[in-house]
Parts: sequence; C-alpha cells; structure tokens
Amino acid sequence: MNFIDLHCDTIYQLMKDENIHLRENNLTVSVEKMLKGGYLAQVFALFFDIDEHPDRFNWCNKMAERFHNEMEKNKDKIAIAKNYDDIIKNKNDNKMSAILSIEEGGALEGKIENLKHFYDLGVRLITLTWNYKNEIGYPHCYKETTKNEIDNQHCYKNITKNEIDYQDCYKETTKNNIIKTSSLGLTEFGVEVVQNMQNLGMIVDVSHLNDEGFQDVYELSQKSNKPFVASHSNARSITNHSRNLSDDMIKKLAQTGGVMGINFSSDFLKENEEDYTKIEYMIEHINHIKKIGGIDVIALGSDFDGIDSEVEIKDASQMMKLYDALKKEKYTEEEIEKIAYKNALRVIKDTL
Ligand SMILES: [Zn+2]
Repeated sequence: MNFIDLHCDTIYQLMKDENIHLRENNLTVSVEKMLKGGYLAQVFALFFDIDEHPDRFNWCNKMAERFHNEMEKNKDKIAIAKNYDDIIKNKNDNKMSAILSIEEGGALEGKIENLKHFYDLGVRLITLTWNYKNEIGYPHCYKETTKNEIDNQHCYKNITKNEIDYQDCYKETTKNNIIKTSSLGLTEFGVEVVQNMQNLGMIVDVSHLNDEGFQDVYELSQKSNKPFVASHSNARSITNHSRNLSDDMIKKLAQTGGVMGINFSSDFLKENEEDYTKIEYMIEHINHIKKIGGIDVIALGSDFDGIDSEVEIKDASQMMKLYDALKKEKYTEEEIEKIAYKNALRVIKDTL
C-alpha cells in the first residue's frame, strides 16, 4: 500500500541536533522507516514555537535550509515534490516524495511578499496558525485577554503560553461542539494570505485554527473553488477537544473536496487516555468521519515526531498495521486506498 502522510514534525526534531539525520535515526520518521512503511509522500512541516524563535522569518529559512540539505543527502531515495506531476515522476524514478510545509503562519511576519519567498523555497502548504495568535488569525481554544486592537506587527508578543490551557480545551465546547470562546475569524491579512495561497497554488491548512477562522477559510474556498485541508485533526464528536473538527466542519470540508488527516496523538483520539494510542481509537474516528463526511474526506496526518504519546503504530515503518485494521473493519481495498493516499493525492492535484 502507498501512504501519504500530511503532517510530521521531524524537521523540528532535526533542528535540535545537527548529528541527527533523516536517513536513519531514533525518531518516528526517517527515510529508512518510510521505505519500509511504503510511503508515497510525506509532508514535512517547518514547525516552530514563536516564544522560542521570535526571529520567525529567519528561523523558518534556517529550517528550510536544513530540509533541503537532507533532501540532497538522500536524493537516491526521496525528492521534493511541488505538485502532482513531481510525485508521479519521483515514483517512476523509484523515489518517495517530500512536500514542504510551514506550521505557523507567523513565519510570514505579516508581510505578503514573504509568502512568495517561501513558495519559491518549495513550500506548498501552510498551517495558518499554531497555538498562538498571529497576524493571520487565532488558534483553537483562544481566549481574548485584552480588548486591545490587534497590532499586526507585534501581536505575537501579547500571547503567553498560559493562554492555551489544555485542560480547558475539552470543556470550552458547547453541546453542539461549537467553540464559543471568541468571535474572531481571519484578520484582513489572513484573508489576503489565503487568497494569495490559492492563486499561487498552495494548500491552506486549518489544523490549530479556531472555529471562526475555519468558517472564513471555508467561505473563501467556496468562492475560489479550491479545496483546503485540516492536515492533522480528528472528530470532535468522538473526542471533544477544540483541536478536532465538529460534524458541521467535517461536512463543510468534504463539500469543498478537502481532506482531514487522522492525527495519531492520544490527546485528540481518546479523552482521559494515558499517553498511548491504540489503532482502535483511530478506527472509531475514521468510522465517524466516514458517516458524517464520506470516505473522500479522510486522509492521514500522523503528527509523528510532534506528539508525546506512544502509538501502537510505533513509527513510519508500521503503517501497514492501519491497513490491516481497516481491512478487519470491513473497509474495501478501494476505501483503504483513498484513506491511505488517494484522497490526499486528489487534493494535491486540485490545488498545487
Ligand atoms: Zn500541529
């Protein structure tokens, strides 16, 4: 089986130590493990915490440089893909594909010209926010602490880590699973970023974004006829966490032809679970999402190397365990192919 994974934080881990490499390592994703697992493509996120790297644009460039160095060192097995044709060409050359993404739209530092800069560096997907407010919008579970207008140049400075209280993430939802913490959607700059991304041919990612921001992306997506994704988010009806999507959001995402990648973290799969992810939790979410949004909306977004929980699928080499579990659950071969890679590939074809 081929697999496309829409999200991992492996580059973030590599940045911690120049002696760790993508080829072989003790992380959950490596070129060797991907080969064993049957990967067609992996989306590698340039993720950073704004608090740790206030020089956001420069830091993101450094991470991109590291990514490209790793691609050069592993060019016999994997190559960057900037569109659908690249993935097919790499496959024909017997290579896996790497798609570059940014997880934290704050990397743009509020300047639209920086979007083209990152596009030219090969970035093809941007997760608009991480867990902080930025110039583009607001994160899930966001609580306004001051009534000050947003200062686009410095808004990240107003955010402290305390603003995201992970305990509260389970409680902030109403009975309908709609977050009611703020009435704040995308900023004016955020709208500009989404429109420019769609024009350039980049995938807009709403994972981590608040519900109002999701609604704005949905409306822009309807206008432009371009699907968007939630690269690593699960179903809120099954696990009531603000990082997950409500049934209404799943339906809207499906309606635009987008996908949501199943996140392997136990935080978003099972409430009150010790840090261990059983495959049966993933199946529970997949069953529900299929019922609500249809089979075509389901993809994979492991979040490998970005999650603390231990996973029954220990690393990238064991993705076939998910195939076996879906098979057992009476999913057809065609349905499993859609979840494993075909749905993600369709979105790549439709957007990039
Ligand atoms: Zn994330």
